[in-house]
Amino acid sequence: MSKTILVLPGDGIGPEIMAEARKVLDKLNAQHNLGIKVEEDVVGGAAIDADGVPLPDRTLAKARAADAILFGSIGGPKWDNIERSIRPERGLLKLRSELGLFANLRPAILYPQLAGASSLKPEIVAGLDILIVRELTGGIYFGQPRGIRTLENGEREGYNTDIYRESEIRRIAKVAFELAAKRGNKVCSVDKANVMEVTELWKQVVTEVAKDYPAAQLSHMYVDNAAMQLVRAPKQFDVIVTGNLFGDILSDEASMLTGSIGMLPSASLDESGKGMYEPCHGSAPDIAGQGVANPLATILSLAMLFRYSLNLPQVATQIEQAVGKVLDQGLRTADIYSEGTRKVGTKEMGDAVVAAL
Ligand code: NAD
Repeated sequence: MSKTILVLPGDGIGPEIMAEARKVLDKLNAQHNLGIKVEEDVVGGAAIDADGVPLPDRTLAKARAADAILFGSIGGPKWDNIERSIRPERGLLKLRSELGLFANLRPAILYPQLAGASSLKPEIVAGLDILIVRELTGGIYFGQPRGIRTLENGEREGYNTDIYRESEIRRIAKVAFELAAKRGNKVCSVDKANVMEVTELWKQVVTEVAKDYPAAQLSHMYVDNAAMQLVRAPKQFDVIVTGNLFGDILSDEASMLTGSIGMLPSASLDESGKGMYEPCHGSAPDIAGQGVANPLATILSLAMLFRYSLNLPQVATQIEQAVGKVLDQGLRTADIYSEGTRKVGTKEMGDAVVAAL
């Protein structure tokens, strides 16, 4: 049966980078006769302008019906001052929760050609290949009760609840072990079990799940140490699995080891492997409309889509190798440019990847 991909370009540089990913998708669709159907709709600020809400019912229905979603980026100053409940980011959060996308996969891979772009010494980061598996729909970002209340003495108090059920920990741990088996088979579970009961349970459950994966090597690390180790000796990690809050912070830290956020893809999966794929960066309003944004994170997100949701790993590898080839040719967008390479715009970069396929 033919597969359907829903494309949501979004705002800012979203439409520019998505146009390049579309070229790659269209080329592969024709080259391998894949018969993939592509739909497109609005989300975020573009949807607020068109429909008054950041995630119209129509877009959500299409997202539910699709086999996978390729998402650009959302947000921008135009929508910064509207009411919080209908801001662009709400569209993204609602998509994630409505589709049950609980597993967020963020690879931090350093292409050897870009080792100089990292803020760390090349010998510390060259060859870096970490996969961070972050729980995305639970933990302190969603836990109840939450709020800001006024105490009897008139002082205000803010509070959130960090909460994880055993089943939520078990399913994300399974994802991490399954993915690790296809790579270095090492899983580091990050917690703060010395002070937080919720992560004490996290540690216990991950240890239990590990018994089903005897070939995997499991280690545990406190989050403060993990933050330190990521900049001290990042190559010690293969797969990192952690909760929503720690994962949010550590994945951003890991992304910067690779130099540019313009290179980093991500995937968010549900229990059946259906997923939404998006670059790690935002809508970059400072460069939107200039034709200079790096489209590679979106193109590499498409590669993840082929690997995880369409089960076509050979097509994913073909895209990744084409990106490597283009970097070998010395082509660089402004964010990864260094002396001795050739600066190109968004469109030229996309065309070069298509040519390299
Ligand atoms: P950002 O990621 O958009 O930009 C940070 C910096 O990185 C900017 O200097 C930008 O020019 C640069 N950059 C980002 N992507 C790039 C690319 N592909 N090529 C070259 N340079 C790139 O983050 P921000 O500035 O904090 O946020 C801007 C807007 O994006 C805000 O409205 C924010 O809410 C939104 N945002 C959306 C998402 C998302 O859609 N998932 C994520 C983060 C932020």
